[in-house]
Amino acid sequence: MSVVQPLLDLQEIDGRIRGLQQEIRDIPQRKDQEHERLNGAREALARAQAELKNAQLRVNEAETEVKARREKIQALKQNQVSLKTNKEFQMLNLEIAKIEGEIENYEARQLAAMDDLIPVKHQVAEAEEKLKEQQAVVDGYVAELDARLAAVQAELSAAETERAESAKHVTPQFMLYYERLRAKRWPVVVSLQHDCVCNGCHLVQPPSVGQMVRRNQGIVACQMCGRILYMAE
Ligand SMILES: [Zn+2]
Repeated sequence: MSVVQPLLDLQEIDGRIRGLQQEIRDIPQRKDQEHERLNGAREALARAQAELKNAQLRVNEAETEVKARREKIQALKQNQVSLKTNKEFQMLNLEIAKIEGEIENYEARQLAAMDDLIPVKHQVAEAEEKLKEQQAVVDGYVAELDARLAAVQAELSAAETERAESAKHVTPQFMLYYERLRAKRWPVVVSLQHDCVCNGCHLVQPPSVGQMVRRNQGIVACQMCGRILYMAE
C-alpha cells in the first residue's frame, strides 16, 4: 500500500466536497435560468397587451369624434331658432347634414375598431394562459432545485464530518503539504505512470523520482507541478 494512501482517502472525500460546493454555487444560477425561460412568454403578453391598448384607443378616438359632432349639431340646432332668414336656415341644415355624414363615417370606423378588438383580446387571453402554464412548469423546476439544494447541503455537511475523521489518519507533515497545494492544484495526489510521467501535468520525471516513488517512504513531488506522486498498482 502506498504511504500516501491516507491522503488518497482524504482526497476522495475532498473531491466529493468540491462537487457538492460547486453544485451549491450553481443552483442559484440554474434558478435564474429557469426564470429567464419566462421572458419570451412575458414579452409576448406585453406585445399583445400593447396591441390591445392601441385597438382600444382607436375605438375611443372614433367615439370622441362622434360625440364632438353630436354636440356641435346640438349647438347648431339651438342657433337655428334665432335665425332670421330662410336662407340662413337652409345653410345651417346643409351644415348639419354634412356633420351627420361625418358622424356616420366615424360610427362605421368605431364599429370596425370594435371588431378589431375581438381577436386582440383573444391574443391577450392566450398569452396570459401560456405564461401561466410556463410559470407553473418553472415553479416546479425551481421547487426541485430548492429541494436539491437542501439535499446537497446535508450531503456536504456529512462529507465534512467524514473528512474531519479521515484527516486524523494523515501524518501532520503530509497534511501540511497537501493543504498548501490543494489551494492551487487539483487533484493534489496523482499516480506516476509506468513511463515515469506525472498524471497531473504529464511531465516525464527523471528516473530518480521514479525510484523514490517506488521506495514508498515519504512524499515525492512532481518536479514541475509539485503534485504528490504515488505508484499506481
Ligand atoms: Zn506534475
